[in-house]
Amino acid sequence: MIKKLSLILVSLFLFACSEQVKVTTGGINQMRSDIQYLASDELEGRDTGTEGEAKAAAYIAMRFADLGLKGGANDGSFYQVFEFTGSPILNTENTLMLNYEAIADSLFYPLNFSGSNSMKGKAVNVGFGILAPDLGYDDYKDLEVKGNPVIIDVSSPDGIHPHSEYLAFHDLRDRAEKAQELGATAVIFYTQDKTAQAPSKTLTENVIPLTIPVVYASLFVSDHTEVTLNMVIDRPKLQGKNVLAFLDKGKERNIVIGAHYDHLGFGGSGSLHRGEKAIHNGADDNASGVAAMLQLALDLQEMPLEHNVLFIGFSGEERGLLGSNHWVKNPTMALDKIEYMMNMDMVGRLDTSKHKLSVNGVGTSPSWSFIDKLDVGGLSAVTTEAGTGPSDHMSFYLSDLPVLHFFSGSHEDYHKPSDDEGLINYEGIVSIVNYMEAIVKEVDDDGVFTFTKTKEEKKEAANFKVTLGIIPDYLFEEKGMRVDGVTEGRPGDKAGMLKGDIIIGMGERSVNDIYAYMEALGSHNTGDQTDVKVLRDAKEVILKVTFD
Ligand SMILES: [Zn+2]
Repeated sequence: MIKKLSLILVSLFLFACSEQVKVTTGGINQMRSDIQYLASDELEGRDTGTEGEAKAAAYIAMRFADLGLKGGANDGSFYQVFEFTGSPILNTENTLMLNYEAIADSLFYPLNFSGSNSMKGKAVNVGFGILAPDLGYDDYKDLEVKGNPVIIDVSSPDGIHPHSEYLAFHDLRDRAEKAQELGATAVIFYTQDKTAQAPSKTLTENVIPLTIPVVYASLFVSDHTEVTLNMVIDRPKLQGKNVLAFLDKGKERNIVIGAHYDHLGFGGSGSLHRGEKAIHNGADDNASGVAAMLQLALDLQEMPLEHNVLFIGFSGEERGLLGSNHWVKNPTMALDKIEYMMNMDMVGRLDTSKHKLSVNGVGTSPSWSFIDKLDVGGLSAVTTEAGTGPSDHMSFYLSDLPVLHFFSGSHEDYHKPSDDEGLINYEGIVSIVNYMEAIVKEVDDDGVFTFTKTKEEKKEAANFKVTLGIIPDYLFEEKGMRVDGVTEGRPGDKAGMLKGDIIIGMGERSVNDIYAYMEALGSHNTGDQTDVKVLRDAKEVILKVTFD
């Protein structure tokens, strides 16, 4: 499949000389109006699940239809809907009353996994809330908690430290679940141990809450206190949608060209903006990629091709690749009929003086080997091998498909309200579109692509001393942390971890979600050996991991 060097040189020569900049002034004007609309204040930053996102989706669908493309979803429409849980919202009316006296809001807060419920009852102090028969320890001995709230100290009988005999029982969710199982109607955590830390206040998505309310109170609650607790955390079920269009060339095999159209709305956790809430217009990120995709949709119709093309405008990218993750798990065409996927994320800020474009993922197939030397109209690429990376191509790479990610480079307006249309380099987008078309043409007669796994280029998380070398599934909403990819040669792989495994424990700690996973990881050092407990086909498997 890898072409001989001489052939590559000939074809490169052809690209360099005969490829004209095909996109006309009309094309540039069209891209400008696409980006002007998508990045306008009217769309309020196109946050997934909002009206602005829906307007953007309708616009892209209309553009696809105007180009004469068919809807690419299974029902023939342009839309593929996916569900996700939006950011949790704490009700402002939440109250905690002790002996009929309201406690100031600043003195209590719900834990991330708290249920939403109202209850009344007499508090039962159950010490540390630990039931450890193997250690001959039972905080619930001779206590009746059914129908009543329990008070639990977040510490343990021998404190909170890595060598505690009760390490396996430190997890607060496990302790709250135990209380719920025994019939308690609420859990109030507190502590008398100054060395024990208060639990995190942060409420996150992708959590399965308990049914009973669970709060932390920074005051002492004595036994038999009359407790009244109203706790409502709204975890909105929202919908996002991918926009799909199919260019039917009547061929057997397909290529996928995608760009996410969602952005950060008014900011949120992905924003780098500090200050007043403001619309994040996301002109470069990623209205630019959408405009480029629509230009490709026009150009590839004219081009004779041995492949059909599926165009996908992804949503939910900024929330963790939700749309592309959903698509690869619910594909609208057989994955084994797809040759490769090309992703454009931020292609609007090409530095024309340098004539350099970032192309990531060239290690995902030997067919990409010519790209390092490819020059199209004076534009060449700085390449990286890895198929992983912070955008939608990663979802396809994790489904064993060759990918490429096109990127014109980062800038100081990245994830800020100042990422505006006026700063877009349209000539730059034109040259990137031409570059991509040259690649599509070059590999069109390569036959079936070979997929190759790539090495990770960066550490998955810089602030950990150790990593497993795995990619977490951010869409997973059940207990544990699902592995969406395993990097070859890294500790997880060496221990036999597989894609699809659900990590439920590490060492003595239970792993209920991705946050508990990160916490468990943070407690390990290079050279440590530990048991990682995973669920594989609903069976528990212990993997012996050595961190390097
Ligand atoms: Zn972004």
